Amino acid sequence: MPAKTKVCTKCGKRKKLEEYHAHNGRKAGRRAHCKECMCATMARYRAENKEKIAARGARYRARPEVREQKRVRRADWRARNREWHNVQQQLRRIGGF
Ligand SMILES: [Zn+2]
Repeated sequence: MPAKTKVCTKCGKRKKLEEYHAHNGRKAGRRAHCKECMCATMARYRAENKEKIAARGARYRARPEVREQKRVRRADWRARNREWHNVQQQLRRIGGF
């Protein structure tokens, strides 16, 4: 029995199901476009929409909850770093190096 295949609606080539990204809620649970076409589409989109994607990232980072998350993470890192610093100092005191 041959492996299950599917024709890509983009390039029109018949490919194995593994050549398609899984997509729940769709016929056959696979994308209509093969991985190759999806990658090409994404790459072109990224190349053509650099500003848009960058703006979206900036908007995301400007959100209060994201800023807060960043602040908490930084404070946490500082606290841990301080601990590490103290340990280093103690080691220096004890070990004499
Ligand atoms: Zn394709």
